[in-house]
Amino acid sequence: MSSLGNPFAEPSWQTLESPYYNDSHRALQREAREFYENEVFPYAESWEEAGQPPVEVLHKIAEKGWLLPFGPRQYRPGQGGSDDWDTFHAMILQEEAHRSPYIGPIWGLFSGVGIGLPPVLHFGSEAQRKRFLPDGYAGKTRWCLGVTEPEAGSDVAGIRTTATKTSDGKHYIVSGSKKWITGGLWADYMTTAVRTGSPTSGAAGLSFLVIPLNSPGVKRRRIRVSGLHASGSTFFELDDVKVPIENLIGKEGEGFRMVMANFNPERFNLAVMSVRMARNAVEEAWKHALTRKTFGKPLMSNQIIRAKFGSMIRAIESCHAWLEEIAWHIKVTPRAYEQPSVGARIAFVKIQAGDVLELCVRECQQIFGGLGTTKDGKGKVVEQLNRDVRIFVIGGGSYEVLNDMSIRSTVASASKEKAKL
Ligand SMILES: Cc1cc2nc3c(=O)[nH]c(=O)nc-3n(C[C@H](O)[C@H](O)[C@H](O)COP(=O)(O)OP(=O)(O)OC[C@H]3O[C@@H](n4cnc5c(N)ncnc54)[C@H](O)[C@@H]3O)c2cc1C
Repeated sequence: MSSLGNPFAEPSWQTLESPYYNDSHRALQREAREFYENEVFPYAESWEEAGQPPVEVLHKIAEKGWLLPFGPRQYRPGQGGSDDWDTFHAMILQEEAHRSPYIGPIWGLFSGVGIGLPPVLHFGSEAQRKRFLPDGYAGKTRWCLGVTEPEAGSDVAGIRTTATKTSDGKHYIVSGSKKWITGGLWADYMTTAVRTGSPTSGAAGLSFLVIPLNSPGVKRRRIRVSGLHASGSTFFELDDVKVPIENLIGKEGEGFRMVMANFNPERFNLAVMSVRMARNAVEEAWKHALTRKTFGKPLMSNQIIRAKFGSMIRAIESCHAWLEEIAWHIKVTPRAYEQPSVGARIAFVKIQAGDVLELCVRECQQIFGGLGTTKDGKGKVVEQLNRDVRIFVIGGGSYEVLNDMSIRSTVASASKEKAKL
């Protein structure tokens, strides 16, 4: 996509001075741009239609060290990338991938492993890390995260899928279902939230289990969602699936804490993606507003159209600056994702980024007029974004739930501080 004179098509650090970025970030951004523009974006529309990106691309991305650009080297031997990469490198990789005119294939490549493998890295035993991580990092095995169920979405503590230990203590027998699992169609493993406690044990009765998806009793089928077709959204039925006890991550009862900890990087990434996608919409509409004439003059010559761009650009730039502020804290603070104050901020910025994306998709569709509703014309990128946007406001924790959660957590922290006085 060319910017056609819109300096806000790219994050400010690419044109202005910034304390957060150095030559290594700039080099990675250039390399990622070239790769995605040549190897992914030209084919993204056909992959979205086909409902699946090719696995060969995943392997190329993994070789470069871009699939999960963090974690100790010993678990990702022979991969590209640098040990000096930080949160900003990871942001750049997300942003460059999400410049895609179709986001479904990007999710089909990355999202499952991006949320399914980190629990093994962060909470798994050394034996589990050695067993699962090298192939996961390399894209040789594919992963997904199974938390949501038909009866438990926002309310994670309400999960009903059970894992019952066999009498010899060597296996769990897992029964239940999982819904909207990204990348589940082609995953080899699902990092799965299960109930090992009693039916009334709530959050304290949840555990995390790695389920090999070739096990007898696993059935899966595609869920036809409104956007992100190539993300491979999947419904799983788990019918007496026998899982070795060695696949339990951490201890029984620790699942809820791990699910919540895993949400913070996921939400941060969703916010980064949303802001980038908002830029994509603005970039497309900007070109259109300069070239489309109504009443004898370009759309851009109308103040009300310029005002729309002003509102969108202000929203995008301020949200991006907030993301960079949080990214810096994460970069310089060990285990920052586990801090409640960081979790609250990430939840807020995820909501804000969703708002920005919704605003931009709406206004850009409006600027495109009928073309904004048409799948094959100049407005097709924005038309597709209109179908993709909803998941960014629901997935990883919805607007309503996160907003309240952040305020509750902030009030709780403030009360603790007050009690110390
Ligand atoms: C395309 C797609 C991909 C996904 N990928 C994955 C995945 O890979 N792995 C996974 O585990 N899950 C995944 N999900 C599931 C996603 O995380 C859930 O959809 C989300 O958590 C919301 O749950 P729900 O859909 O059951 O909505 P519900 O919990 O039923 O909520 C419905 C609505 O009610 C609101 N609401 C709920 N409770 C309250 C309350 N107390 N107060 C006020 N409002 C409330 C919510 O905000 C929402 O708007 C995916 C979903 C989609 C659509």
